[in-house]
Amino acid sequence: MNVPLLDLVRLYRTIKHEIDPAIAETVETQRFKLGPAVASFEKSVAAYCGTKRAVGCASGTDALLLALMAWGVGKGDEVITTPYTFFATAGSISRAGAVPVYVDVDPKTYNLDPAKIEAAITEKTKAIMPVHLFGQCADMDPIVEIAGRHNLVVLEDAAQAIGSEYKGRRAGSLAHAGCFSFFPSKNLGGYGDGGMITTDDDEMADLLISLREHGQSELYHHWTIGMNSRLDALQAAVLAVKLNHLDEWSDGRSRNADYYNGRFAGTDIVTPYKMDGARHIYNQYVIRVADRDGLLAHLKSKGVGCAVYYPLSLHLQKCFATLGYSEGDMPESERASKETLSIPIFSLLTDEEKDYVASTVLEFVAAPVG
Ligand SMILES: *Cc1c(COP(=O)(O)O)cnc(C)c1O
Repeated sequence: MNVPLLDLVRLYRTIKHEIDPAIAETVETQRFKLGPAVASFEKSVAAYCGTKRAVGCASGTDALLLALMAWGVGKGDEVITTPYTFFATAGSISRAGAVPVYVDVDPKTYNLDPAKIEAAITEKTKAIMPVHLFGQCADMDPIVEIAGRHNLVVLEDAAQAIGSEYKGRRAGSLAHAGCFSFFPSKNLGGYGDGGMITTDDDEMADLLISLREHGQSELYHHWTIGMNSRLDALQAAVLAVKLNHLDEWSDGRSRNADYYNGRFAGTDIVTPYKMDGARHIYNQYVIRVADRDGLLAHLKSKGVGCAVYYPLSLHLQKCFATLGYSEGDMPESERASKETLSIPIFSLLTDEEKDYVASTVLEFVAAPVG
């Protein structure tokens, strides 16, 4: 049996009757730049996340960069973040001209460990960028509290976490701004790239609107230097349809997670840890095993889609060599990068597929090959 890690074709078939007309309608108008489809989708996302404003842009990476620019993070500044995340988190910090300062993760949630943040703060620290990894919010109360005491900006990398909740509040509404990605494999994925920044700050939202179109105040008048980073009207049309289904899909993922948790209970497999009061949206269902590479090979040989997020901590990436980190500096992140593995969790998995995935994992754990 072959089980894909993610099957977007299957998902499309269930909403084709809504998506196709939405795309056709946008094409009929020939209005591809911002316009009513984008404005309306921005309103919907702000309402969904519980913020006053939301500003669309061209990708999650751009959302991070635009937020850093808007909140004045640049040359000479340090930004505290996690080394266990997708590259864009730290890449955007460097792109903004600032320096990523890594703080190790909590081994249970794989999110930034608040207890380790304060020791990393210097007089150059300007911001903290926590990541809500795999669909669960970072422990935001202590992070926001520390930031408040040191007068730091907190920008959430919520790229994997739309709809995720922390103590009843949604990702993107927990700090100064939230940055989202609509990359196709995210829980709310477009048919191409897209991103958004959420905030309660009207002034900053207006600034972001200017920055995403070359820092213009009015057409062809530029008071600052921004970017070309708009959300496509076509993407907005697709995403608006998909947003209506998001909770149903997230609930499906959560039910699948419960199923796996039950099957793996009492074994050596470490299942995802869910914080008290959290809503986890399971962008990934990540398990931890000692012989991760062995399990990976076993699953691949049996047709089970799986992947490693992420095999190399950011502090050890070649492009960050000049930051001066070395192996052993971020032990929890390094260990996670060697022991974790994602298995299929998308909402449309059949009972048969879930059983096959769980049984194939358990088969290896009971009798490791090699
Ligand atoms: C996907 C992702 C991004 C970047 O989003 P893009 O839309 O691909 O640019 C940033 N941070 C994290 C944690 C992500 O998972």
